Amino acid sequence: MSETYADIFDVFVVGGGINGCGIAREAVGRGFSVCLAEMNDLASGTSSGSTKLVHGGLRYLEYYEFRLVREALKEREVLWSIAPHIIWPLRFVLPHHKELRPAWFLRLGLFLYDHLGGRKLLPGTKVLNMADDEASKPLSQNFSKAFEYSDCWVNDARLVVLNARDAADRGAQILVRTKVVSAVRCDGLWQIVLEGADGARKTVNARYLINAAGPWVDQFLADGVRQDSVHNVRLVQGSHIIVKKLFDHDRCYIFQQGDGRIVFAIPYEDDFTLIGTTDREFSGDPTNVKISSEEIDYLCGAANEYFSQSIEAGDVVWSYSAIRPLFDDGASKAQEATRDYVLKVEGEDGQAPLLNIFGGKITTYRKLSESAVEKIESFFGERQGFSTNSVPLPGGDFEVTGFDIQVQSLKNKYPFLQNEHARHLVRHYGTKAYEILGKARSYDDLGEFFGGQLWACEVAYLVSREWALSAEDILWRRTKQGLRMKPGQVEALELFLQNLDARAERLSA
Ligand code: FAD
Repeated sequence: MSETYADIFDVFVVGGGINGCGIAREAVGRGFSVCLAEMNDLASGTSSGSTKLVHGGLRYLEYYEFRLVREALKEREVLWSIAPHIIWPLRFVLPHHKELRPAWFLRLGLFLYDHLGGRKLLPGTKVLNMADDEASKPLSQNFSKAFEYSDCWVNDARLVVLNARDAADRGAQILVRTKVVSAVRCDGLWQIVLEGADGARKTVNARYLINAAGPWVDQFLADGVRQDSVHNVRLVQGSHIIVKKLFDHDRCYIFQQGDGRIVFAIPYEDDFTLIGTTDREFSGDPTNVKISSEEIDYLCGAANEYFSQSIEAGDVVWSYSAIRPLFDDGASKAQEATRDYVLKVEGEDGQAPLLNIFGGKITTYRKLSESAVEKIESFFGERQGFSTNSVPLPGGDFEVTGFDIQVQSLKNKYPFLQNEHARHLVRHYGTKAYEILGKARSYDDLGEFFGGQLWACEVAYLVSREWALSAEDILWRRTKQGLRMKPGQVEALELFLQNLDARAERLSA
């Protein structure tokens, strides 16, 4: 590792998921010096493996999680307004299944959902007459009634990177492929040992340590901080499958299952349907989480309950799995464990503090980050104001309803752009799309074409501005162009990245 570091950071964050990157942005925005280390790629843990909903969590009402649901409902429009390129509203269709939750119960839940918090732009719930609604067409059963309500969609992995980018633009040091091997207290500071991908080690110092290691939060306490008998989180695996699209409209379905769970079917990347999620206890190293054949069968079965077009394991074009690091509140069933977050500070008077982050949701990351930085401020004293609720994330500086206008403006400046490509660029980069296209006047100026909507100029941007290093970072996290790539195209991208590396090495030699 050849980076140079500040002598002593105010704040050191372990983990480059949504919580770590959100906290880094909030802390540096308030004037603290911040360093964050992520052992793999940004968002390579749970934060790229979610259902990608910015939602209150309708089913959490059943577990009386009113505080969490209210906060999350309010956050929907806040997050949409700071990142309208990667977050947008969705309507959810909830068919009323006569043998499952009664209609009055769903109506009550949705009434609360509409009125608990902060809904200004998102439309409220309505009842659908399924006899003549398009949403009934792909379904196999004759549902007479369904409810339709609002939540939002988020490109989760990009939300993480944009928080990291903004934090770095404000002065935070973001280190990827850098594992925090150990952290010990020494003379009122944390001495933190980092290990790079090449195995080289380096020590940095910080006054305040934040453990935002997600599913690895206990592992870091046990191995990195050397604490005994650590047991704060319950690891619950959730998996998703992606199949060719099962319906043509732009609404989602929320399907109740006989076992009390719910499964979403969501339009995904134009040509696909995303189906998830499962809920099962997990033990072992979260790095090795993989969808099981039972989970694939469960999700296919759940979809087959409702859709007339039947699917099976062979139809799955891609799948992903992730671990929920739920705070262990002693609930007996995985789906009953609280989804709320818990922040705990350790450190006696005069000792350097350690703040552990347990649980949380993508939706509440900003509120969690505010609470974390309030704890930091109660140690250091208050710093400058910084409102992450109104400062757009990179590329998100346009109106929430302005997506189509942005696409048109981009096409006006670059008339050669195909519509689909322009939409791809605005959906991923918002107003930063202009940085990617630069002075291009035709497709020849965008460099090598790799397949899908991916040209060399975008790859170069992802490498230089978004810490992307491998084909996987680019095809499965910064974008989902992996869904459209053929094997030879992936190899061409890998080769291109190796050549970029070699060129950078030659330049620095
Ligand atoms: P992570 O994203 O896992 O980040 C922790 C990071 O720490 C990892 O990248 C890891 O590599 C790094 N790390 C660990 N140890 C070290 C170390 N020693 N040194 C350096 N780095 C280290 N929430 C919603 O709001 N909406 C949803 O629709 C939704 N759906 C979900 C569906 C599923 C299946 C799951 C599992 C979760 C879902 N969630 C959802 C919850 C949400 O995804 C998580 O709460 C959130 O992503 C957790 O983020 P995190 O930053 O705590 O953890």
